[in-house]
Amino acid sequence: MSSTPRTALVTGGNRGIGLAIAHALRDAGDRVVVGCRSGQAPDDFEAVPLEVTDTASVDAAFTAAAELTGNQVEILVANAGITRDQLLMRMSDDDIDAVLDTNLVGAIRCARRASKGMLRLKRGRLIFVSSVVGLYGSPGQVNYAASKSGLVGVARSISRELGGRGITANVVAPGFIETAMTEELPADLKKQYQGAIPAGRFGAVAEVAAAVRFLASPEASYVTGAVIPVDGGLGMGH
Ligand code: NDP
Repeated sequence: MSSTPRTALVTGGNRGIGLAIAHALRDAGDRVVVGCRSGQAPDDFEAVPLEVTDTASVDAAFTAAAELTGNQVEILVANAGITRDQLLMRMSDDDIDAVLDTNLVGAIRCARRASKGMLRLKRGRLIFVSSVVGLYGSPGQVNYAASKSGLVGVARSISRELGGRGITANVVAPGFIETAMTEELPADLKKQYQGAIPAGRFGAVAEVAAAVRFLASPEASYVTGAVIPVDGGLGMGH
């Protein structure tokens, strides 16, 4: 490993789980650039515009991150994601396309661009933020579950393709995490969900970020193609 800080790019890093990941990687000594689609970039981070559904934007974001830091992106955290929940029979083409294009194809676009610099560096960490729903399933989330389970195939194929080049590819699969989304749940539904989780509570964004930080760390150099659940036991390790 080089002694200069490694450049990390976190997609959707302006808020929620992505922002917690950005903090965790920075605390570990990495130089973190946050990819922002819209809204205000966090005050205390370097940021680049990034729309993961647009290949030109992905390309420009990686170029800008390398210019800002003087180094190729060595750690990619593909975190950007959306939901468009709907029962299968009512799910529109747009609901299907938007979720797959953002969560799955967007992550592939970013990984493809990241791999170029990582091959030059001869090392790299690709970390995909999936969901317990990817392998557990969830009614009303056929599009989302397909996008999130697809990330497992992505990480495992990259592991086989680039594992010999010092590049690892892994998945973190959060369960219910305390975010703006879960805050809005009605109290009775929240209680019902919590009852199904062996840990009896929702997780914290920092608990997801800790798993990402481990996968990005030198200690995880021999971990690739893995799915690390951070879900209080809901998926029982998948
Ligand atoms: P948020 O909705 O709080 O944040 C999502 C982030 O993704 C935002 O920064 C958003 O940007 C960005 N984003 C969305 N679409 C795009 C796009 N097309 N291009 C670039 N950026 C985009 O989500 P969370 O923090 O809750 O979730 C983060 C990840 O974790 C997601 O992949 C989610 O599926 C996953 N997850 C979350 C769980 C939870 O309980 N919260 C549980 C399991 C998985 P903008 O600010 O512009 O909207």
